[in-house]
Amino acid sequence: MLRILSSTLLFCTLSASAQQYDIVLRNGHVIDPKNNVDTKRDVAIRDGKIAAIEPSIPASAAKQAIDISGLYLTPGLVDIHVHVFTGLRHNAWGNGDLSVPPDPMSIPYGVTTVADAGSSGWRDFPEFRRRVIDNSKTRVFAFINIIGAGMAANDDAAEQNDHDMDLDALSKVIADNRDIIVGVKTAHWQQPNFISVQKAVEAGNRNHLPVMVDFGWFDNKSYKEMIETVLRPGDISTHVFRMPAPLLGPDGKPAPYMLDARRRGIKFDVGHGGGSFTFALAEPMVKGGFFPDSISTDLHVGSATGVMLNLPNVMNKILALGVPLNEVIRESTTNPATEIGHPELGQLAIGSVADIAVLRVDTGTFGYADLAGKVTGTQRIVPEMTIRAGRVLFDLNARTAVPWREGHLKYATR
Ligand SMILES: [Zn+2]
Repeated sequence: MLRILSSTLLFCTLSASAQQYDIVLRNGHVIDPKNNVDTKRDVAIRDGKIAAIEPSIPASAAKQAIDISGLYLTPGLVDIHVHVFTGLRHNAWGNGDLSVPPDPMSIPYGVTTVADAGSSGWRDFPEFRRRVIDNSKTRVFAFINIIGAGMAANDDAAEQNDHDMDLDALSKVIADNRDIIVGVKTAHWQQPNFISVQKAVEAGNRNHLPVMVDFGWFDNKSYKEMIETVLRPGDISTHVFRMPAPLLGPDGKPAPYMLDARRRGIKFDVGHGGGSFTFALAEPMVKGGFFPDSISTDLHVGSATGVMLNLPNVMNKILALGVPLNEVIRESTTNPATEIGHPELGQLAIGSVADIAVLRVDTGTFGYADLAGKVTGTQRIVPEMTIRAGRVLFDLNARTAVPWREGHLKYATR
């Protein structure tokens, strides 16, 4: 009798709470570094937001239950160095259209948020916003180039043109697009001075934004000097493992000035690119305890078809160097989100937007290349699902689909 009563009570409880969620992802291992979660949890979504994270949430509590046994569930990945706009002109590396549309290189790779790194300047940002940002499923932020024409051309007409650094015009575009513009970018500066970096910092001070620096040429100015005297806490040095950056001391360990810079709050971002990542620097830095703050791709046609490939592949390289999985996830979620002033992203707190990556981690023997050679790793992150604001946008193994005979596909007839 008691047993019947209690099961009736249980049934009533379940009925009352039935389908209170839109989706529940069950039996996954949640890694949410910001909130110190690294354990098995069920995650429920309602109205595009994280509604519950519990040891167990019944399948009946949601309209759709997805079993992700054996997989990891993390915040949607955040890539703060991509190029997703070319504008109408040729760009810095030649005459081709080397930027890529954001969605095909984000959604199938667990990436829900990107920041374009200076592809546009104040002259063409409105076009970038209209054509790309406002039409993408991926959340697209932007570092705006200190040069008005953005990365239009790496010549005297554009990226080397300090006469096209108009802080009034730049500040006006920033003020009009505060919801999108998260920083100021300077890149490829070839001259033997720090004019473009200083101008970017000036723009950053005026608009309360961080600066992202692609150092450019190492033969005519000192990286150490820029790090120590020009950059402010919160500013980001991208391409951190690019040769020949003088990151190592004579003892082969991370140079003391790099440790000082980190203590002061300078951020070091991977920005892999076509050839801006070398194991020759990354391995001794990581083995010396100097992990990157954020892992990013420097996504463009050349890097996506070279040894960079995509964000999980760059994460796999860092993993192969010995950085633990939950730290790699931190460097691909909450760290980059915080660097761009959006700490509410890259995490899974109750009430935060339901941007989620579901990842498989295969074990075996895997090779990862830079332009010189390879390292061998024992783990490989493979994206399985991407959820953006509560909607499943990518589902490698069709976990959310029914057998096709049970489906409701209707062909148009006329
Ligand atoms: Zn770049």
